[in-house]
Amino acid sequence: MTVLITGGAGYIGSHMVLNLCDKGENVVVLDNLSTGHDWSVDARARLVIGDAGDIETVTALIRREQIDSIIHFAGSIIVPESVVEPLKYYANNTGVSRNLLEAAVNGGVSNFIFSSTAAVYGMTGLEPVAEDSALSPMSPYGRSKMMTEMMIVDAAAAHGFKYGILRYFNVAGADPLARSGQSSSVATHLIKVALQAATGQREGMQIFGTDYETPDGTCIRDYIHVSDLADAHALVLGHLKSGGDSAVFNCGYGHGFSVSEVVSRVKSITGVDFPVSLAARRDGDPPAIIANSARIKTALGWTPAHDDLTQIVTDAFAWEKKLMTRNRKE
Ligand code: UDP
Repeated sequence: MTVLITGGAGYIGSHMVLNLCDKGENVVVLDNLSTGHDWSVDARARLVIGDAGDIETVTALIRREQIDSIIHFAGSIIVPESVVEPLKYYANNTGVSRNLLEAAVNGGVSNFIFSSTAAVYGMTGLEPVAEDSALSPMSPYGRSKMMTEMMIVDAAAAHGFKYGILRYFNVAGADPLARSGQSSSVATHLIKVALQAATGQREGMQIFGTDYETPDGTCIRDYIHVSDLADAHALVLGHLKSGGDSAVFNCGYGHGFSVSEVVSRVKSITGVDFPVSLAARRDGDPPAIIANSARIKTALGWTPAHDDLTQIVTDAFAWEKKLMTRNRKE
């Protein structure tokens, strides 16, 4: 049986492809290449260029490829962009997911794993947040994902498939073998932006908000290495395939770093003291968000292998340098 990975040409999806292909799984990627790259898809997987919201095409693909499990990454992921373009987020995240679910039901898919986000929780403070906390997203991005979670639960109850909903904290880093990494040309995420500043791709960077109720006044996030995240999905897939129940899992390490700490770490690892200016708060940013990941550790034995900010930044830096070489050649 085959696993369909939507958004498999993107950042997290391409690491999922590597993870499953390394395990010898049969993988089909569906990606419209709006932000992903065909070269990010490992050659062991088959890339189909198309839209995950195209019900007829996806239903036919599921039947043709005998897909029994879908891991759904395709979507838009930038919190501040969602504030200015909410309808794009409700279309690309909520709308596309709704159609993909219909195709999954049509095609008789057994397992559906969804890429959700810690942004569904909203203001959580410095205490680690668990899966049964109240959901109160602060941005259209978070709401678009929360609505998708709701659709998945309802559709699973009505149609009998099983689901795994994974709520990601701040995904960062790159494949330790430098086979993939964050490759989008438009960078908004903190570590990528800082690395672009360190490698001279931008003049410097800004820290958004220095007056938060946190020890150094900058926002705190729980940064998780993308390879550990891919591993969490593989465990959930195995759990569902072997008869385990549907579940929601947080994916983070349970401790956070402030924006200032991350910027300092990037400077020390790259050895470049790039210019940093202090700017106003960015819309939609909660002050702190840290995972309680006890559930996935206890239920599935998830053991992160890269819980180390230095490794996250080092792997991301290695990828950034490789990407610059590739972009120069193109
Ligand atoms: N951030 C920043 N400067 C940047 C990019 C991000 O100060 O150029 C901050 C952002 O305001 C937030 C944190 O870094 O507090 C993490 O933001 P990111 O966009 O990486 O992820 P998010 O938490 O929004 O998903």
